Amino acid sequence: MSGLHLRGVVLPDGDGPTDLWVVNGRVRTQPVPGARTVVDGGYLVPGLVDAHCHVGLGPHGVVDLPEAVEQAITDRDAGTLLIRDCGSPLDTRPLQERLDLPRIIRAGRHLARPRRYIRYLGVEVEREGDLAAAVAEQVANGDGWIKLVGDWIDRDTGELDPLWSDDVLRDAIKVAHDGGARVTAHVFGEAALPGLLDAGIDCIEHGTGLTDETIALMAANGTALVPTLINVENFPGIADGAGKYPSYQRHMRELYARSGERIGAAIEAGVPVYAGTDAGGGIRHGRIVDEVEALHRVGMTRTDALAAASWRARAWLGFPSLVEGAAADVVVYDRDPREDLSVLRHPSLVMLRGRVH
Ligand SMILES: [Zn+2]
Repeated sequence: MSGLHLRGVVLPDGDGPTDLWVVNGRVRTQPVPGARTVVDGGYLVPGLVDAHCHVGLGPHGVVDLPEAVEQAITDRDAGTLLIRDCGSPLDTRPLQERLDLPRIIRAGRHLARPRRYIRYLGVEVEREGDLAAAVAEQVANGDGWIKLVGDWIDRDTGELDPLWSDDVLRDAIKVAHDGGARVTAHVFGEAALPGLLDAGIDCIEHGTGLTDETIALMAANGTALVPTLINVENFPGIADGAGKYPSYQRHMRELYARSGERIGAAIEAGVPVYAGTDAGGGIRHGRIVDEVEALHRVGMTRTDALAAASWRARAWLGFPSLVEGAAADVVVYDRDPREDLSVLRHPSLVMLRGRVH
């Protein structure tokens, strides 16, 4: 039996160098005879997580499979070994067959209403009452997550408005939960949040419109938040491009101006916050470290910001850290990233499924 051996400080719990072995893609904590040492020194971090990423989506919409592979490799080389896909127009199941690509937890397609999201990206539910049936279809196609578009500009009112009424959301989220899936929603503004949270949604994407009341609700229910701060940086540009809708423009600029303080308040209140880049459309792939640094800037400690992109996010998505029998997904750094997050930009080794890249 050929194995690999790694020696270093194992995060999150290690306080001195320890040894790990890897056999058949799994972590072993007992010595493996004849194992080859591939790491001797440094910091071993459970594979990074991008909790909001669109493999299969590029700046001009859906991409083909070879380009999706390139996106996934770009993410992997940045240390991202687990992706929570947050809706993709491309069926990325073929990528899940490849051992060299990050693990992808697919959400299937975005669920939106006609003219209430980016064209061609999601499934457009013609009749609002058909949302539950559309959810059931995506539950069958995905890996346990459903992505709703919670709010978007309504070109009739010129405002950032919710897409769904409260009772429709309750029915739809119940269908997902009964099918064993969790639900998340794109939400920029304030108005869509109470209905989604009351319906028992599991996660909110962006969340720039969080109020003290909706933050308290999320903290009490343990509802997760993936703010995608590096994509919120695009809000002024989105506003600039919406010249026909001055009220919407003003709203987007206000949301942007308050975003750091609002996400900081959610962190302070104990809402579980995870790192997601929103790579795919307006954000290029491979930027997970930028998001970790952004989370630190709005109030997370360096260790918490790293946890939000590593062990805590992995646990949330059902993947253990570097314990006996766990997947051997490891990123190694020469220095302690908890002391200096920029260390994350230069992994000395990336191991995915026990294979060194
Ligand atoms: Zn997104």
